[in-house]
Amino acid sequence: MFYELNDQQKEFQKRVRSIYEREVSPLVEEYERKGTFPVQLFRVFGEEHLLCLRCPKEYGGPGLDKISECISMEELNRICVGIGAGIMVQGGLATDPILHFGSEELKRTYLTPAVRGEKIGAFALTEPDAGSDAAGIRTNAVKHGEGYRLNGYKTYITNGTICDFMTVAAYTNPSKRGTGTNLFVVERNDPGFSVIKKLEKLGNHSSDTAELAFDDCDVPRWRMIGEQEGGGLEQLEKTLKSGRITYGARSTGVAQAAFEDILSYVKRTQRRGEPLRRSQATRFILAELAMSVEVMRYTTYRGAYLFDQGVATMKDASIVKLFCTDSLQKIVQKAMVLQKSAGLMIENPVQRYLRDARLFKFTEGTSEIQHLVIARELGL
Ligand SMILES: Cc1cc2nc3c(=O)[nH]c(=O)nc-3n(C[C@H](O)[C@H](O)[C@H](O)COP(=O)(O)OP(=O)(O)OC[C@H]3O[C@@H](n4cnc5c(N)ncnc54)[C@H](O)[C@@H]3O)c2cc1C
Repeated sequence: MFYELNDQQKEFQKRVRSIYEREVSPLVEEYERKGTFPVQLFRVFGEEHLLCLRCPKEYGGPGLDKISECISMEELNRICVGIGAGIMVQGGLATDPILHFGSEELKRTYLTPAVRGEKIGAFALTEPDAGSDAAGIRTNAVKHGEGYRLNGYKTYITNGTICDFMTVAAYTNPSKRGTGTNLFVVERNDPGFSVIKKLEKLGNHSSDTAELAFDDCDVPRWRMIGEQEGGGLEQLEKTLKSGRITYGARSTGVAQAAFEDILSYVKRTQRRGEPLRRSQATRFILAELAMSVEVMRYTTYRGAYLFDQGVATMKDASIVKLFCTDSLQKIVQKAMVLQKSAGLMIENPVQRYLRDARLFKFTEGTSEIQHLVIARELGL
């Protein structure tokens, strides 16, 4: 049973907080304004062993547990969600399938450089006509010579324009809906691959999001993840299970940031000649926010603990994602309402938290999809 972080995890938390405050905080405003990802951070985090935290030592990773990954993601997203998105994809969606199902050659060629920050990864599942319905994708991979020829489109892909490689979902057998898929590693310089356009978003401005095309894009056989055709669905499920727990940590990080801001605002603000902190209504709101942030954090740690024990189900992961992303919406709304017009000003980070938080309800499975997953495991 999980009760508290151990000494090693507490030390790790202190270390990552100070690294992110030193390396990320000074970049946030500039890169949010420019709408680009500060790619130099991949090398910085690689040297600090903060990429792909669950990757074992034999492939160059620190071999930490899911709880540590959540600690790191909470601290990074407390500072910047957009930058958190690119780093999360690197250590999760892009490399998890290679870590768990890839050949030795795939691990040495992509995972180890990703851990060092020498190569940037992306994950391409979503298509213009297939988001929530992953089995509805149309990208196909047809046997061609010694490998496969990929054709199709992908959209909303994080790290899409900055990546060196991407893990791409495609049908090898379209007659088997869902189960006929495989994941392939495509390199950005592979002929037939192109970026259609970079996308601009409501929030996460410093994360890179793009629409991609695969037009007779030839991929050698060894870059298919897994031994046989089919099996892509199982690989996706394991990857998404881990990712949905990470969203608990990301949400907790933003909630913590919003809470710290509003607490400081209430402590320094006077309304009608009285310190705002004397108002009982305000004190009750702050007490509720503090409670929500704690419950989000422990819900996330519980999910991560179950994941580390190898017993987390898709329902466990969906509960973490749904509860934490929903709680976050309420927290950022309250933080905005308490500050009134001041909260709407661009220099006030609360407006950024509100925009960034909204996106959490869509990415890595929408809230409706989390409801469906939970209901399905309840036998409904
Ligand atoms: C900033 C950002 C980054 C992203 N990064 C990536 C990435 O790196 N890689 C990647 O592959 N994808 C990525 N995505 C895509 C993301 O995972 C999808 O947007 C998401 O899966 C939803 O798909 P959709 O937007 O096409 O919505 P749709 O699936 O079209 O859904 C539209 C609405 O209908 C609801 N809905 C759908 N099906 C059902 C149902 N059966 N029952 C009830 N309601 C339903 C949904 O909840 C939603 O509200 C990203 C998206 C964003 C916004």
